[in-house]
Amino acid sequence: MKFGKSWLIILVRGGEMSDESKDEDWEPDEDLILWMRQHCAKIGIGGVWSPDGSGCTYERIDLDTWSLVRMMEHPNAISHHVRFKKLFIAAGLEVEDENPVQYPAPMSFEESERQRLEEKREIALNWRCECHLPLAEFDLEKRIDVFIEEKDVPYNGDTHPVQIWACRIICPSCDKEVNMDPDDYQLLAGNELYMQWRDSEGGIYKAQTRIEVRDLVDSGVMGVALGSKLTGTEEKLPPWMWGTYCIYIPAGLQEKSED
Ligand SMILES: [Zn+2]
Repeated sequence: MKFGKSWLIILVRGGEMSDESKDEDWEPDEDLILWMRQHCAKIGIGGVWSPDGSGCTYERIDLDTWSLVRMMEHPNAISHHVRFKKLFIAAGLEVEDENPVQYPAPMSFEESERQRLEEKREIALNWRCECHLPLAEFDLEKRIDVFIEEKDVPYNGDTHPVQIWACRIICPSCDKEVNMDPDDYQLLAGNELYMQWRDSEGGIYKAQTRIEVRDLVDSGVMGVALGSKLTGTEEKLPPWMWGTYCIYIPAGLQEKSED
């Protein structure tokens, strides 16, 4: 049995509100314990686990020990931790929870989204290659977007074709090609690098913000509007670049600007 990221909270919480006596009675079932064992084994020492919406962040500090490093100041976070601790122990792991960094519960939806993004970024900075080099230390600008397949997905009682892509980056230490989910790449590299695309000749199309487009037009410089394929060579473009207005930087000019 396999659980997605957001399933976990529902499984652990069972959809109820915080209630201390229920937390004490709660016991994880066999499927959840097995999942926990497998999940924790996949995260390297120094890696973190921050179940979406739980308000708790755990770090793996050695083979069998985890530590609660951050916790939101909210009764639900305390309640989640009581249950996660039982789950860790049932999976044969130890948890230290004496000194988590406490942070205030968000005051608004925007604040909560910002905190979630920050937590996710922290996790992304810990992603590592098989050789243990953090992905954040790769040359993220030299990403190649790879078209994987087109899938028909159900949409409004009909089906709708969706393109699956991967962002490929290469390890500067062991030369391994790492294919990332585009959303994960965006999280790791940031929006500016995500919103540029390299053609087969090494030229870069860099998407412009609305203000940048205004300045381009005012200064009389022409950009390029992108569709689903590159005009002329018919190279496929990744969906997140569709409909953007870009400046084009040929390979030759990029080298000159680095000197
Ligand atoms: Zn590597």
